[in-house]
Amino acid sequence: MKKVVKFGGSSLASAEQFVKVGNIIHADEDRRYVVPSAPGKRFDKDTKVTDMLYACYALAEKDHNFNAEMAQIEKRYQEIIDGLKLDLDLTPEFDKIIDNFKKKAGSNYAASRGEYLNGIIMANYLGYEFVDPAEAIRFNEAGVFDAELTHKLLSKRLENVERAVVPGFYGAMADGTVVTFSRGGSDITGSIVAKAIQADVYENWTDVSGFLIADPRIIDNPKGIDIITYGELRELSYMGATVLHEDAIFPVRKEGIPINIRNTNSPEDEGTWIVGHTCQKSKYTITGIAGKKGFASINIEKDMMNSEIGFGRKVLQVFEEYNISFEHMPSGIDTLSVMVHQSEFVDKEQNILSGINKAVSPDNVDIQSDLALIAVVGRCMKSQRGTAGRIFAALAHANVNVRMIDQGSSEQNIIIGVSNDDFEAAIQAIYSIFVETRI
Ligand code: ASP
Repeated sequence: MKKVVKFGGSSLASAEQFVKVGNIIHADEDRRYVVPSAPGKRFDKDTKVTDMLYACYALAEKDHNFNAEMAQIEKRYQEIIDGLKLDLDLTPEFDKIIDNFKKKAGSNYAASRGEYLNGIIMANYLGYEFVDPAEAIRFNEAGVFDAELTHKLLSKRLENVERAVVPGFYGAMADGTVVTFSRGGSDITGSIVAKAIQADVYENWTDVSGFLIADPRIIDNPKGIDIITYGELRELSYMGATVLHEDAIFPVRKEGIPINIRNTNSPEDEGTWIVGHTCQKSKYTITGIAGKKGFASINIEKDMMNSEIGFGRKVLQVFEEYNISFEHMPSGIDTLSVMVHQSEFVDKEQNILSGINKAVSPDNVDIQSDLALIAVVGRCMKSQRGTAGRIFAALAHANVNVRMIDQGSSEQNIIIGVSNDDFEAAIQAIYSIFVETRI
């Protein structure tokens, strides 16, 4: 068996955490490919090394002195090296980094050094080969990740490497210019490596024991999710559940490689399994609930809209012209609503309204603002009667007025729009009816 193990920043924030990670890796000899993040927070008010690097580079870019800031970063790594009693000197690496900062190598390069240096330490600590992703994770000239070329280069590079450390978060263009993924992007690297070596499992080690059914800031001590499909996860992460980077599922999904989210601080927990398909029913009818505030709904009415060919396209074209993506589009016979992120829409509001008037001459247009969307997600909903009935009965009991309902065609989610003020109460009511009372 071959496993890829990715460790997040908090799992590698100090020498003490490195020791835990070392024990986890040594406990299973299939854990052969390691993807480290940069050192994260050691305590609540601490700063991640990635953020220290961005701040330090911002000074370098303005030709300000950044010695003190760089010294702080060096200290973070030296503490880890000393704590692990490694015979490793990063001074030549830091000399090169300082030089490149002065030459304005770019903020992507700067941020990537967090993972790069942690990778060198990790490889030294484990005795594994260090593989620089700049060699094999490829971005095109526009800075867009090239999945196909990367797969070719990386699978070749790792072909005869038994055990390797591949730092997360970055790769490079053909000319060597370093490019990072978006924040949290080491999750994507883990997934890319898992695909390249055709891993049996991609273990993603973090500081929580997997996904929770609902946000713990809203629900006290929510239950965990044992197993979730990629499709369900996609719905939940779109709505703001943030344990794993949203793009991390794409490389492994097609390959059928499962992801196991694990907790470095509690390695005995099974965590959450993310899989392509499963015949296992979730414990409750629903798998999870997630949501976001801050949506606006533009409601358009026009008699005989249903028979006017091209109506929807003309409306959406106005949004496209103003570069606004729409999130949902529930419709009635003579009504159509377009839901958008309020913060993106607000500045262009009047232009869009007049655009719609010109494009389709509606009878009426109004806007509802300050809406929240809640996704109730579950692969088992499709085959069960009464799920929607229970959701809406629970919301009525909690005095929550439902403003919008949308069921995805996959029938694995029901999206409910409520006012921002009702957001928490709605989630509590839905969680309670499915998980606590479990009827
Ligand atoms: N270190 C990077 C960040 O803080 C990438 C990662 O940890 O995944 O976003």
